[in-house]
Amino acid sequence: MKNRRNTVFDYHIHSEFSDDSTEKIINIVEEAIKKGGKKICFTEHKEFNYPDKDIEFNLDYEGYKREFERIRSIYGKKIELYMGVEIGVQAGEKNIQEIIEYTKEHEFDFILASAHCLEGAGLYGMDPDVKNLDNLFAGYFREMLDVFKHFNDYDVVGHIDLLRRYFLEAQTHELGESKEVLRELFAHIIQEGKGIEINTGGLFYDSANINPTLDILKLYKEAGGEIVTIGSDSHIAERVLSNYEKAVDYLRSAGFEYVTTFARRKKEFHRIK
Ligand SMILES: [Zn+2]
Ligand SMILES: [Zn+2]
Repeated sequence: MKNRRNTVFDYHIHSEFSDDSTEKIINIVEEAIKKGGKKICFTEHKEFNYPDKDIEFNLDYEGYKREFERIRSIYGKKIELYMGVEIGVQAGEKNIQEIIEYTKEHEFDFILASAHCLEGAGLYGMDPDVKNLDNLFAGYFREMLDVFKHFNDYDVVGHIDLLRRYFLEAQTHELGESKEVLRELFAHIIQEGKGIEINTGGLFYDSANINPTLDILKLYKEAGGEIVTIGSDSHIAERVLSNYEKAVDYLRSAGFEYVTTFARRKKEFHRIK
């Protein structure tokens, strides 16, 4: 169904340039136009020292740029297209150094910084000690905080409570002591002028949840957070812009009046009321 709203954006999309997608950029763009999208941003995976050697999440930057620009030259008048990246953030001096160098040397419209690992292991397929869930959350938030204390060349933090997507026990976990670490993380992000995202991708997984949960989104708001992007985390064309209206309602219910987009690393706020 075509969305008639003027502020229809998707700032988290994967195509075949991500190691876990085979979708063509052109299919995604055509689908987004059909749905009434105004601005969409590709956020292809780029990991550094990803622990699973079968899938490294390297990014063919030149190939990506070439295809993106080719498609933009065809469709750019019908929809605003942006070239972003989802960089994997992992603590550790070597990882952080590589991230800093990479973002310095490559140009993007938007940099989404996401933690897909915890203590050097991939979250996907991990079998954690769920009796200590709150420790797990605290460790996850702390690792991001460690990275962001040394690296600030990003715009938005991706799916900040991603643990909920992978571990069913984590879905309903109410943050205990880990909430303090999250407060610290939010204080840091906000002070640096960075934002967070509402990621609707989880609605398609077993977790059937938007990330983050509403209480976390409200916590970000209370901490003074204003920058929020909305993304589908789609890996196939048909999911681009999916559940966008749900995300807007969600944003509003946490007290926000604006949704954020980026172009050439500059943010723009759009009123959603
Ligand atoms: Zn991600
Ligand atoms: Zn993603």
